[in-house]
Amino acid sequence: MALSPYRSSVPAGSLRSSTVVRLERPLSMGSATKQAAAAAAAVVTPPSRSKSTSSMSPQARRSSSAARSGKDDSGVSGRVRVAVRLRPRNSDELIADADFGDYVELMPELKRLKLRKNNWDSETFQFDEVLTETASQKRVYEVVAKPVVESVLEGYNGTVMAYGQTGTGKTFTLGRLGEEDTADRGIMVRAMEDILADTSADQDAVTVSYLQLYMETVQDLLAPEKDNISIVEDPKTGDVSLPGVTLCEVRDQRSFLELLQIGEANRFAANTKLNTESSRSHAILLVNVKKTVKAKQDRELVVLNENVSNIQLSKGHRIPTIRRSKLLIVDLAGSERVDKSGSEGHTLEEAKYINLSLTALGKCINALAENSPHVPIRDSKLTRLLRDSFGGTARTSLIITIGPSPQHRGETTSTILFGQRAMKVENMVKLREEFDYKSLCRKLETDLDRLVAENERQSQAVFDAEEEMEAKIQEAQRSVTEAEKKLATTLEEMAAERFRFQKEHAETVHKLEQERSLREKLEKELKENTQTLHVQKEKQMQSERARHQKELDDRKQRHQQEVMELTKRLEVERSQRDVLERKLQEVEHLVKQKGKSELGGQEQILLLTSQCKEQSHMREKAEKELQDLRSKTALTTKELKEENANLRDDVKSLSHDLEEQLKHKKTLEHEVKTLKQQLLQLSFEADETRKSLDREPARTSIGSDSPLMNSHKPIHMRESLNGQRATIAKLFEQVGLQKILSLLDSEDMDVRVHAVKVVANLAAEEANQEKIVEAGGLESLLALLQSSEDETIRRVAAGAVANLAMNETNQELIMVQGGIRLLARTANEAEDPQTLRMVAGAIANLCGNDKLQGKLREEGGIKALLGMVRSRHPDVLAQIARGLANFAKCESRGVAQGHRKERSLLIDDGALPWIVSNASSEASPIRRHIELALCHLAQHEVNAKDLVAAGALWELVRISKECSREDIRSLAKRTLGASPVFQSELRKMHLAHD
Ligand code: ADP
Ligand code: MG
Repeated sequence: MALSPYRSSVPAGSLRSSTVVRLERPLSMGSATKQAAAAAAAVVTPPSRSKSTSSMSPQARRSSSAARSGKDDSGVSGRVRVAVRLRPRNSDELIADADFGDYVELMPELKRLKLRKNNWDSETFQFDEVLTETASQKRVYEVVAKPVVESVLEGYNGTVMAYGQTGTGKTFTLGRLGEEDTADRGIMVRAMEDILADTSADQDAVTVSYLQLYMETVQDLLAPEKDNISIVEDPKTGDVSLPGVTLCEVRDQRSFLELLQIGEANRFAANTKLNTESSRSHAILLVNVKKTVKAKQDRELVVLNENVSNIQLSKGHRIPTIRRSKLLIVDLAGSERVDKSGSEGHTLEEAKYINLSLTALGKCINALAENSPHVPIRDSKLTRLLRDSFGGTARTSLIITIGPSPQHRGETTSTILFGQRAMKVENMVKLREEFDYKSLCRKLETDLDRLVAENERQSQAVFDAEEEMEAKIQEAQRSVTEAEKKLATTLEEMAAERFRFQKEHAETVHKLEQERSLREKLEKELKENTQTLHVQKEKQMQSERARHQKELDDRKQRHQQEVMELTKRLEVERSQRDVLERKLQEVEHLVKQKGKSELGGQEQILLLTSQCKEQSHMREKAEKELQDLRSKTALTTKELKEENANLRDDVKSLSHDLEEQLKHKKTLEHEVKTLKQQLLQLSFEADETRKSLDREPARTSIGSDSPLMNSHKPIHMRESLNGQRATIAKLFEQVGLQKILSLLDSEDMDVRVHAVKVVANLAAEEANQEKIVEAGGLESLLALLQSSEDETIRRVAAGAVANLAMNETNQELIMVQGGIRLLARTANEAEDPQTLRMVAGAIANLCGNDKLQGKLREEGGIKALLGMVRSRHPDVLAQIARGLANFAKCESRGVAQGHRKERSLLIDDGALPWIVSNASSEASPIRRHIELALCHLAQHEVNAKDLVAAGALWELVRISKECSREDIRSLAKRTLGASPVFQSELRKMHLAHD
């Protein structure tokens, strides 16, 4: 009894092809499985092989040799599985075979089939599956085809083929579409269902070709015009291909059914055209399955890489694996033709071709089953097409169909025997797996391109970044350099600034110090001045009050006296009236006593009465006067009282004013300028005081050009003065000349006085004179001289002008600005000898200018000079004499130079008498100037007669003899000798000069 090789490991009816395939997989197959397979091969011994069980089949030999060589290339032994299916009786058979017993007996549980030869003889066959007439289409698929389909999906080629007499149900088993009844669906439909369920439309591909083989011609059932498709075998791999055949990709079951229908329709049309039947042709459905294996285990890769050792794979790239497998479903032509072709009226040729393929298939299977060294594969197109299915690498299932009728006993038996032989065919199933180098290459190229592009981008980015960085660094360096430069400059500037600030600070501190001390001093002085002023005002007010009081008292007294006098007069009048009244009474009495009145008496009475009336009238008048006087007195007293009160108010308001002024003064303290001026003032006053102390010794000097000059003062005095002037000069620098000059116009008299003193003091220094004149000081001084009522101002201003007049340019300016007229006016008006001394000094200076002589005289300069002799003050006289001497000297110079011919202007203006009378003055400065003047006058012969007439000759003679100055003495002598007039006069007096 032969046993299925699977029975030992798989329960009947639930064979899982995956289990089978797993066992056969080269990588997972252990040695135990191999042994089991080998054992199975030994156990299953079909009857035809019983005689040669000891010898090894070619497959077994191949298999063992492959195992020995250790190569997986040859695959795993896989015998062709064969199932038998019995068709149920059709209606005809039910009738025809009613008298016959069962010819075929099935023992499906034993997978055995018994063929009853006759009543006493039967033959039993072992199959892989025995499917009874009741077996469902589903069960048939699962038992026969499903393991092959699963195997195909795992990468192995597979073949499902039906073999049997026409009408036994081959097409029913394979090609039923099951459109009416789903349960009727055949193997093709069910196989495609499983394939589509196990593949993905994205990554995998399922294509279908549908062919018909008839009379050794392959026709494309999906494109019937292709009716001669060639079969090409790869000489290396032995793989069969059909160039030009239609490959339809199947995406769903519906499209597949459509394809099958198209194929069937085309098959039917083709058979009609050829006048044949479908049972005479072979139908072949070719399903190509391409599956991508997703994640290949590293372990597997390593093993695979042993074969592709040259390929270096990066870690991230696993080789994609694809599995290309084929499923062939073959519906063979009816097997009865093999034997009956000739007997059914076919042409010999036709019969030959019709049977050729099936005959060849039988021969090949026989050869394979018997391990024959020659397998005539190339004898027919069918065997060429099925090259891999029998004796190849495919997993093959064969279903043989038989009918139940004993009428077809022969066909049934031959079919069963074919199946028995096929069961002996061993295939070497082989995984159709290959590395998808193309897709790997594409992927790697894509990756490479992407990486190259990315690299390029990054390189560019790096380059850009570097450039940017470089630019930034340069920019930063530039900035740093600039910043450093700026810093250095700033530091330098700051240092300079700091130095300047320090300097300024020191200067400011110094100035402040000075100002503070100055202010303190001024405050002190102000205080003193205020006190003095206060005291003076107080005194003034007291004296005023006293005067008013006295006046009031006087008036009171006077009024009282008047009242007393009037009272006295009233008393007298009253007594007179009383006397008169008494007289009147006496008279009246007398009249009464004597009786009759006498005419004379009456007249006397009338007279007395009129006298009395008159007296009474007078008395009334006197009383009225007295009354008036009294009321007047009262009124006056009242008035006086009121006046007194008014005076008190005045005093009060004056005090108030005084206080206000004091306040005002205090508020003016900040006017440092004024205070500074006062300070200057005081300095000047001090100077003046000192000078006045010095005046006595200075007065004795002769020939001094300036009344204010100190050139002849004792040295110690000069030093002291110079020191003070230096102080003033310093202040002058600080305060500024312009300011000092502006103070000459000040409202404040004191300020004006001080200012003019300062200017005069400054003008004493030759260095300052030009500056003062430039700044308009001369005009201001002359203006003061003209307008000021104040004696001091005029004196000092004149002194200043005198000082300025020492300079020749200034002399002209003074003249131009009408200085002479002003000086002359001052000379005429002033009484103060010091003022006159200054004026005389100024004019004297002007007298020394050759160019100005005429104008000086015209504007009354000489007359003014001579007018001042009224002062009799020796200082004034000395200046007058100096002026006359200067004038005379200029004139004599003019004569000597030849542009002067006329008599001396001095003589014209009547200077001679005074000159002569003072020629022998006690005061030496006067005397010496006059002596000089006389000498110069005498130089010009035109003057000689006048000189003689004025008595100057005698003075000249005296000078020539007595003058203490040698030069003047000799000049006088020379002059006397040279003048003819003098000579003749002297001769007249017998005093001819020798
Ligand atoms: P074949 O292709 O082998 O010539 P068919 O498949 O055409 O045979 O079958 C012949 C007839 O038998 C058909 O009418 C079919 O329906 C019927 N037939 C075949 N097998 C079965 C079965 N197992 N059960 C019922 N009817 C069957
Ligand atoms: Mg058929």
